[in-house]
Amino acid sequence: MRTLNNLHFDNSYARLPDAFHQRVQPTPVPSPYLVAFNPDAAQLLDLDPFVAQLPEFVEAFAGNRPLAGSDPLAMKYAGHQFGSYVPQLGDGRAILLGEVRNEAGEKWDLHLKGAGKTAFSRFGDGRAVLRSSIREYLGCEAMHALGIPTTRALCVIGTDLEIYREGVETGALVLRMAPSHVRFGSFEVFAHREQFDRVEQLASYTIEQCYPHLKEREVKYVAFLREVTERTARLAAHWQAAGFAHGVLNTDNMSILGITLDYGPYGFMEDFDPGFICNHSDEGGRYAFDQQPKIAYWNLAALAQSLLSLMNVDDAKASLNVFPDVFNGHMHRLMTTKVGLTSVVDEDMPLWTSLLDVLAEAKVDYTIFFRQLGNFVLGERNEHLREMFSTPAKFDEWAERYGERLRREESNDSDRKMRMNRVNPKFILRNYLAQIAIQKADLKDFSEVDRLRGVLRRPFDEQPEMEHYAKPAPAWGKRLQISCSS
Ligand code: AMP
Ligand code: MG
Repeated sequence: MRTLNNLHFDNSYARLPDAFHQRVQPTPVPSPYLVAFNPDAAQLLDLDPFVAQLPEFVEAFAGNRPLAGSDPLAMKYAGHQFGSYVPQLGDGRAILLGEVRNEAGEKWDLHLKGAGKTAFSRFGDGRAVLRSSIREYLGCEAMHALGIPTTRALCVIGTDLEIYREGVETGALVLRMAPSHVRFGSFEVFAHREQFDRVEQLASYTIEQCYPHLKEREVKYVAFLREVTERTARLAAHWQAAGFAHGVLNTDNMSILGITLDYGPYGFMEDFDPGFICNHSDEGGRYAFDQQPKIAYWNLAALAQSLLSLMNVDDAKASLNVFPDVFNGHMHRLMTTKVGLTSVVDEDMPLWTSLLDVLAEAKVDYTIFFRQLGNFVLGERNEHLREMFSTPAKFDEWAERYGERLRREESNDSDRKMRMNRVNPKFILRNYLAQIAIQKADLKDFSEVDRLRGVLRRPFDEQPEMEHYAKPAPAWGKRLQISCSS
């Protein structure tokens, strides 16, 4: 176990030339305090959880005291935002403190969001508010527990610094972790400036750090694009199957590792609506729930475009073109297991697609429905499911076909339930649950943030004492609006 003073830093990104980043220290904040600490993430750093109780911990992750061995910098990148190219973005309020290598040999970026201005802040104040920091912290830990690739979060630090958004808000910082924070936009910034040597340098760096198995490949850049495409396609399938809407799928928020990155106005699906728009600034619905796979593919095309100096167009297209098959295949696998079938065959595709149509028409709670489907009893009327529909005729029709399919594989009710409960969560991060935790935290009661993290880290377990966290949102909680201003 390590303390804050002897973390094993290996700052590979800082060793890249100055063109890739700006060296910058976090700007200190007044009277920082600990809002939330996640021992699961600390374990990834071999960090003794006891250190969270020390004032040094708060000082370090408030950006008030440098960590021994860190080499803080802001990463340069660009990106397509809502379809338009923005030539320079970069870490405008997040600072990469450094990269920690753990005993298992894994490397984790310590990325401090809300740490003050950098060369890339443009008109922003370099800060983050408590509300969005808690949402990011809970969001990524909930996703991790669901088995969806994502950044992780170590802690949230609050400060007395006042932040101006739609009104005055409490300032905060969140410490985010990932094996790398390189994004699609990290390549775009150099390709659009025709700095092709930089593109190659970054591609070679990323392969070395994150895709070492591709290093010796003859056509390593083509293989790299192909693997990023595959990972991103699988990630998009995970989002769709779990009912997760990211909200701001700009290319600067697309991780080169195919993990969920940058939790802003994201949302988990409650009453099922394929056109769900969680970001209320997204008027056109470009990033609506059902657009995500298409947008992920579009974003990959932007990445491929920026790698064209490293490969010919046909190879780039071939790598990119694996997307539909990988996405559809993975989605089919995930949905087949969600409905409790043991074999994955193409003929079952209409079974779950038609179910989604039935759920959409009746606006049934997505998570509660699939959890309840685990209690399906062959040969019975399944009132517990029927009562979720105001007019159950379409559901009955579907249940009939479902029953036939289950009979064909001689499905056993209790075995199936066990299998389904391992993939259909009981607990998701409903917006209103996050909202309650945030309101309490604003009044300096942080207990709910921690309790919620505790519930969400075991989303598939029954947790009978936590039953109320599995309930649908009350009326006020269904009308919450989440904006980009964070
Ligand atoms: P996001 O929507 O959080 O992915 O941010 C998009 C870009 O805007 C990134 O380059 C951010 O660093 C930058 N940005 C967002 N909020 C701020 C802020 N308050 N101060 C400075 N830069 C910001
Ligand atoms: Mg971003």
